[in-house]
Amino acid sequence: MNQGKCFKMTPLEYYSKHASDQYEQKLKRTKSFLQKINQDYSPLVQATSLGVEDMIITDLIHQLNLSIQISMLDTLKLHPETLALKNQAEIYYDIKIKSYYPNKKTTQNYIKKNGKNAIYQSTELRKECCHIRKLIPLTDLLRNYKGWITGLRKEQSNFRANLQAIEPEDKEKDQPEVKLNPLLDWTNGDVWYYVKTHHVPYNTLHDHFFVSIGCKPCTRAITLGEDFRAGRWWWEQNETKECGLHVSKPISFNSYQS
Ligand code: SF4
Repeated sequence: MNQGKCFKMTPLEYYSKHASDQYEQKLKRTKSFLQKINQDYSPLVQATSLGVEDMIITDLIHQLNLSIQISMLDTLKLHPETLALKNQAEIYYDIKIKSYYPNKKTTQNYIKKNGKNAIYQSTELRKECCHIRKLIPLTDLLRNYKGWITGLRKEQSNFRANLQAIEPEDKEKDQPEVKLNPLLDWTNGDVWYYVKTHHVPYNTLHDHFFVSIGCKPCTRAITLGEDFRAGRWWWEQNETKECGLHVSKPISFNSYQS
């Protein structure tokens, strides 16, 4: 956790002072958006990573008393801090966050064939791990829902800058018609201002400048001036630091499935 030490303040202390001028309108719009999609796309699921944006959405769902399922992917590679936040959020909001896990035999076969550190050997092997631990369980998580809610923001990457609030999905049987992105226009300042003023529980790793938090072996803190996604799969050079959850046509891997 050394990378963030050049900052004197935590993200909460620093960014919460920099909400955008349009923050109040955005918050109002976001609440209306959530209420509207709850009518139009029910049943809905929030696929939470327990990142700070997702925590805001959970907070709003709770505040607006919306009947939306909150679920997460537990890759079995998450940080202890992330799992602690899950417990904290369940108590704080009096909810049950449903976890989806990878298939044990499939993960064992992957490790047996490629070794424990295969993810660092090639992008293809890393994506295969994401496929096994995230994409396959995601299909189960999303099954029978009409829409799924994410915490994506345009600011986060060039890829995300082109997203719309309602994104049609490649419709497969039993899978959602749309992906819904209520916080697309929120700035980092808006996010942390909301967290501070609404006392939203958040992952303590954010205090150490882990900005985008994924699995433990694939996440590091970032330094001043680094891109939002720089802490994810930092050993890779490609521009789209995505695991496949948020690209329209995920790469398909057929091996190791049992
Ligand atoms: S983020 Fe890393 S550990 Fe997690 S599923 Fe992807 S490659 Fe595997």
